Amino acid sequence: MTLLKNGAVVDDPWVYQAANAATPPDAPVIVTLDDWQHQHRSLRGRNTPLGIRLRSDQPPSLIADDLGLFGVVALEFPQFKDGRGFSYARSLRQRHNYQGEIRATGNILRDQFMYLDRCGVNAVEVEDASTAQAWLEAMGEFSVWMQPAADVRKSALQLRNTTQGIGASRRRFESTPQTPKSDADEVAAAAAKVRSFSQTYGHLTAQNLLAAMIKTEFSGRIAVVSSFGTEAAILLHMVANVDPSTPVVLLDTGKLFGETLTYRDRLIDQLGLTDVRSVQPDPARIADLDPAGALWKSNPDLCCQIRKVEPLGPALDSFDMWITGRKRYQGKRRAVLPVIESSNGRIKVNPLASWSRDVIDDYFRDYDLPHHPLEHDGYQSVGCMPCTDRARPGEDPRAGRWRGQDKDECGIHETPAGQSLTSSEL
Ligand code: SF4
Repeated sequence: MTLLKNGAVVDDPWVYQAANAATPPDAPVIVTLDDWQHQHRSLRGRNTPLGIRLRSDQPPSLIADDLGLFGVVALEFPQFKDGRGFSYARSLRQRHNYQGEIRATGNILRDQFMYLDRCGVNAVEVEDASTAQAWLEAMGEFSVWMQPAADVRKSALQLRNTTQGIGASRRRFESTPQTPKSDADEVAAAAAKVRSFSQTYGHLTAQNLLAAMIKTEFSGRIAVVSSFGTEAAILLHMVANVDPSTPVVLLDTGKLFGETLTYRDRLIDQLGLTDVRSVQPDPARIADLDPAGALWKSNPDLCCQIRKVEPLGPALDSFDMWITGRKRYQGKRRAVLPVIESSNGRIKVNPLASWSRDVIDDYFRDYDLPHHPLEHDGYQSVGCMPCTDRARPGEDPRAGRWRGQDKDECGIHETPAGQSLTSSEL
């Protein structure tokens, strides 16, 4: 059996215990409800993680008081047309506020994958491993749904009654001129794009959102902008899982730490990235405005302008969407970061916006990702060498950036459209 979880094929650490069988001593085990009811004393005493499987005639209310003990609730689907598993998943998320893994097992169709995800199922067992990729791609194939679910998406009927519909908004997006006629047109067009994409994709997990954007909506027209900083490996790992040939832009300002460039090369090797573009400033602008290389001291805004903001424009010319790894927990202006926003007429997606430091640490550990070499030296956020200091205990992770100056961003995210648009539905 192959397990698809959060948009990727993953190793399954859990084993199913056959009914009435002896419990394996060391493995994380998923037991039947009957065994839980008859052996709960001994099962509670185990030191290894415990999960439970529910048949389609066993609603979650039967285990409501014990849910906090289970790392997995496996819902059995005896037939693909049996809808009880969908209802149970919604009940677990909405009524019981269950935060662990909900997996679907049994007779499920690929076309039900998206609806399972919308109901709160975040892992699905697939019998034929060779079809796993096709299952993952199913996540990006639907843009309108008949049924309401456990997410914020409106059903087709709700959309028809309250808006012009997703299909209409998508057609509006596809026909949006690349060069809006005025600032007002630009803001309106960008707002329509953000609304449409938020309605369609805002509920997805980071991995599934990336798959939908890279494989379906913006195939060949999407790039990642990465600093190859302390948390960059996560986004790059997820992108590589979808398509390692996705272009990745690094703004190589000429002031980066050598360790960052070494880390870039290590991640390229380890993740198999095939299109990392190190974009450098225009030598004529440097010669004109920063011949001594010390502009960061006297005018850091102008330094960032010529070393970051200006080179990024041409680097993104051939793309309609870009992806960033920014997160709300990083504080200051990022505290209100939306998942989907707009910047200069392009959609910008921040799939990790809601991630916390704990989740980040777990991801590094789960996937055995390498850390930036400077992280062990106390740097929580790494940018250009002259403008990066270590964050002190209790400070926010980016406190060491431009320390002592009234500056906390380099400017590439501060376009007027980017500042004015957020997705209120996320
Ligand atoms: S971070 Fe500092 S060195 Fe880098 S471009 Fe901005 S001001 Fe210049």
